[in-house]
Amino acid sequence: MSKKILILPGDGIGQEIVAEAVKVLDYLRQSEGLALELENGLIGGSAYEQHGDPLPQQTLELAVKADAVLLGAVGGPEWEGLERPLRPEQGLLRIRAGLGLFANLRPAMLFPQLVQASTLKPEVVSGLDLMIVRELTGGIYFGEPRGIRVNDNGLKQGFNTLVYDETEIRRIARVAFEIALKRGRRVCSVDKANVLESTELWRQVVTEVARDFPQVQLSHMYVDNAAMQLIREPKQFDVLVTSNMFGDILSDAAAMLTGSIGMLPSASLDAGGKGMYEPIHGSAPDIAGQGIANPLATILSVAMMLRYSLELPQAAQRIESAVEQVLDEGLRTADIYSAGPGMQQVGTREMGEAVVRALAAQ
Ligand code: NAD
Repeated sequence: MSKKILILPGDGIGQEIVAEAVKVLDYLRQSEGLALELENGLIGGSAYEQHGDPLPQQTLELAVKADAVLLGAVGGPEWEGLERPLRPEQGLLRIRAGLGLFANLRPAMLFPQLVQASTLKPEVVSGLDLMIVRELTGGIYFGEPRGIRVNDNGLKQGFNTLVYDETEIRRIARVAFEIALKRGRRVCSVDKANVLESTELWRQVVTEVARDFPQVQLSHMYVDNAAMQLIREPKQFDVLVTSNMFGDILSDAAAMLTGSIGMLPSASLDAGGKGMYEPIHGSAPDIAGQGIANPLATILSVAMMLRYSLELPQAAQRIESAVEQVLDEGLRTADIYSAGPGMQQVGTREMGEAVVRALAAQ
């Protein structure tokens, strides 16, 4: 049976980069016979322009029916003045909530060809390949009570609640262990169990889940140490699993180890393996419409989709090899270009087409 993929280009460079990722999917469909059915929908500012809503009901319905969603990016200065519920970013938050996407997967891998793009020394980052699994729908960003109140001393007081129940911890831990089985079979759980009771429970539950995965080695690390180790010796990690806020911060730090925002994909998964796949970057209004955005993060998001939602790991691997191939050929979009022998600066379309050519040549 064919698998349904909903394509949501969104705003800004989203349109340009997703068009290249669709070329890769079309190639796999037409030349290799992968049974994939593509549908298109609107989200973000472009959905607001047509329907007055950044997540129209029909988009959510299509997403619910799809096996996976590929998203470009949303947002732009033209919508910044709108009331909060109408802003493009709300479309993104609502589709994540509507699909129950509780597990955010953020790989940080450094292609050897781009080692100079990192601000860290080549020996620290070359060969880097780690995965951060971040809990996305719970923790302090959603906990109640929350707000700003006046306390008994008449002072204004801001407060939030860090709360996780064992079910929420168990399901994100399971995702991390299952991913580790497909990678290096090591999970490091990041918490602050020495100070926060909620993360003491986190550590207990992750340890219980580990018993179901005897092939995977579990370690624990306090978040402050994890932040330090990510910069000091990032290659020690395979899979890191952590709560919403810690994951938010650590995954941005990990992304910067690679030095190129245009190269990094991400996934957000539900309990059944359905996922939404997107580059980690935004809609880059400063370069939108110029044909110079890097489409590789979106193309690598397609590879993640094939691996984690569509059970097509070989096709995923082929896309990743094709990306390596075009980098080996010296092709670079402006964001990853540095002058040198054999280097050639290309636009968004040329980069996408080069990946398709590399796939065809395998
Ligand atoms: P951004 O990621 O869009 O851009 C940051 C910088 O990186 C810019 O200089 C941009 O040109 C560059 N860049 C980003 N992607 C690139 C690519 N593929 N190729 C080459 N260069 C690239 O972040 P921002 O400027 O803070 O935000 C712009 C808009 O995007 C805002 O409206 C923001 O809300 C939105 N945003 C959306 C998402 C999302 O859709 N998931 C994520 C972050 C920001």
